[in-house]
Amino acid sequence: MSTAIAPKAQIPDVAGQITYAMRSMGVAPIPRNYELFYEAYIGSNSALTRELAALGNSATQEELDDIGAKYFPRHAGRIFDDAHARLSVELDAVLRALKQEQLTLDSYNRLLGETCERITSRNHNGADLLRSAIDILTAATGDTMAQGEKVVENVAQRSQEMDQVRKELDEYKRIANTDALTRLSNRRAFEDRLISIFDNQLTRPTTALVLADVDHFKRINDTYGHPVGDKILATVASVIRANVRREVFVARVGGEEFALIVEGTTAEEAMTMCERIRRALETTPFKNSRTKVDYGPITISLGICMASEAANSGELYNKADLALYCAKNAGRNCCNVYQDGMQKDFTKSWLIYKN
Ligand code: GH3
Ligand code: MG
Ligand code: MG
Repeated sequence: MSTAIAPKAQIPDVAGQITYAMRSMGVAPIPRNYELFYEAYIGSNSALTRELAALGNSATQEELDDIGAKYFPRHAGRIFDDAHARLSVELDAVLRALKQEQLTLDSYNRLLGETCERITSRNHNGADLLRSAIDILTAATGDTMAQGEKVVENVAQRSQEMDQVRKELDEYKRIANTDALTRLSNRRAFEDRLISIFDNQLTRPTTALVLADVDHFKRINDTYGHPVGDKILATVASVIRANVRREVFVARVGGEEFALIVEGTTAEEAMTMCERIRRALETTPFKNSRTKVDYGPITISLGICMASEAANSGELYNKADLALYCAKNAGRNCCNVYQDGMQKDFTKSWLIYKN
């Protein structure tokens, strides 16, 4: 039995291969990218490997960070901790500068008081006193102004740095609320938005929730494989997005499930919008131009509920879900508006991030 350790030449140079792959794909050699490529290399997460491979040679740092935020939530945590630490340093520096400025102004104030006292006392020769007072005040004013300029410069520089941190935080907030596959809003963003419908009693009566679910999607995955399924989902998302007004909120809320929040609408108008989406998708070609395989037609079922029909976000979601369920039962590839009398088990829990 051999207990020998493999000779050096036979030990795979994992780090070398990973950095080689990163270099040849033009990826910045930074630790968080290395971690992504390492995971892809060891193949412990096939979805991550697929998404990384799909980026090809033109991956932007933003796309890599999207994948990082999706599969390594601690990346986002680290980024927020780091931003917090940087903001604290900058704020401390601004506070120190302002305290220093306050001390300078205090002593200037004291000097003004003392000089004023000396001028008003009758024991001195007026002209000499005035001259020496002016000299003292001129020097002190010059010093104070110089110190003030330094503080302004310091605070301006700090605030520029804080502005940069704020921009980075905004960017990470966007990543945290975006679905990496479709670039739509994700479930987390949807839940926040859904709850906020009930914060505004003025817009609530004209707000509609639409839940949409791709029909028989399991068959697509089973027949053509998950990567093809993913590409189809990305196309479905872009068809939905292209067929609604810009201000309509569109999210991917589950595997092949989407949600739309439409403000300033009636149930009829929401129905017209859903029909437009449904028909656009039904007529979108899903043909692989290289292999000529036709994956289509892809269809979708949609359920609509006006926020005026519900007392809270949970009820609204359940009623839209019920309308969707009835659209599925009616044969799929259709839209349905919630009406009293529709029935289904309401015990299903829908909130993932909130309780
Ligand atoms: P129905 O018309 O009743 O909605 O049928 P369905 O097959 O679409 O519904 P079901 O909920 O049974 O299956 C949804 C399938 O969606 C299961 C899973 O294979 C697939 N799926 C879920 N998430 C993803 C994803 O991120 N990518 C891909 N490719 N498939 C996914
Ligand atoms: Mg589904
Ligand atoms: Mg489905």
